[in-house]
Amino acid sequence: MRILVTGGAGFIGSEFVRGLLARGSDRVTVLDALTYSGNTANLAPVAGHAGYSFVAGDIRDAGTVDRVMPGHDVVVHFAAESHVDRSIDGAGPFVSTNVLGTQVLLDAVLKHGVGRFVHISTDEVYGSIDKGEWSEDQILAPSSPYSASKAASDLLALAYHRTHGMDVVVTRCSNNYGPHQYAEKLIPLFVTRLLEGKRVPLYGDGANVREWLHVEDHCRGIERVMRDGRPGGVYHIGGGRELTNRELVGMLLDACGARWDSVERVADRKGHDRRYALSIDKIRDELGYAPRIPFEEGLARTVAWYRDNRDWWQPGGGPPGATAGGTEAGSPAGTEAVIGG
Ligand code: NAD
Repeated sequence: MRILVTGGAGFIGSEFVRGLLARGSDRVTVLDALTYSGNTANLAPVAGHAGYSFVAGDIRDAGTVDRVMPGHDVVVHFAAESHVDRSIDGAGPFVSTNVLGTQVLLDAVLKHGVGRFVHISTDEVYGSIDKGEWSEDQILAPSSPYSASKAASDLLALAYHRTHGMDVVVTRCSNNYGPHQYAEKLIPLFVTRLLEGKRVPLYGDGANVREWLHVEDHCRGIERVMRDGRPGGVYHIGGGRELTNRELVGMLLDACGARWDSVERVADRKGHDRRYALSIDKIRDELGYAPRIPFEEGLARTVAWYRDNRDWWQPGGGPPGATAGGTEAGSPAGTEAVIGG
């Protein structure tokens, strides 16, 4: 299969590409604009693979997308502005990349008759839930400009299925963690700061609940949906560990050999969702999916990766061969960029 992966130089997209090429005979083209969170070093392990090619380009650029699209059987669409706090500071790039960029891709898929469009969405499109869990037919009620732009693109993709009969599948996943995640999201931000002996910021009362799934488990779920999901289907990918931010921070302090006096309480995020929770009955029953990596094991591996790969994230480090995004990826965010997915 010839697979076009947008955003394949980012955290989750690069895991997906490395996994596909390590396992099988698929051919993969990565299309990525190498924004601050894209880093070609994430793709270094597959750079010499015969089935791999990389195009530096923007999904909003219809000309580039039109040139890259022909010959592919599937598009797996990860490319996005992905950090909630940045969307609160300015929603423009989120609407532009996440909504308009998705529309450009969908039009090119339609034009070139590409077989399938896999849209990578998020649990955040539902808003917040105090008790119980969401099923896939829950109405979307996003809270942040990030999640609203993801909800818009998610619904746009499904509309191309209904209107044009396009083979679209949508995955909605909970918070991911693992190696190669830009150090602005909770786990890599805290780990990199604690490893440097710095203080870390905790939003509000720390009682917000998130469900944490290892990125390898997420990518296995995406692959199951890509190969066997029903056209027009929406699939949750979750089943990770539910933790309050306070509980998670306690585990991160232990893992990094730090104490609670390293934690600084900061004002809560505006519009901060209290809890997300996905039912994974559908993907389990239809596609036989279940996560495999226990949280304690995945977290220990993740902390070890950041400890062993300081040149990936430390300022001025920048791994050999990294191009755009490499230097930026070496800069852990300041204390203003904090928690949540
Ligand atoms: P990331 O920020 O690490 O990677 C995003 C990638 O997209 C980067 O390589 C970036 O260069 C690229 N990109 C951004 N704008 C682009 C554009 N205009 N054109 C081409 N490339 C562009 O994000 P991530 O955490 O890997 O998330 C990937 C996808 O998964 C996103 O769609 C996100 O909404 C979704 N998701 C993430 C999580 C999570 O916990 N991280 C959970 C559920 C869903």
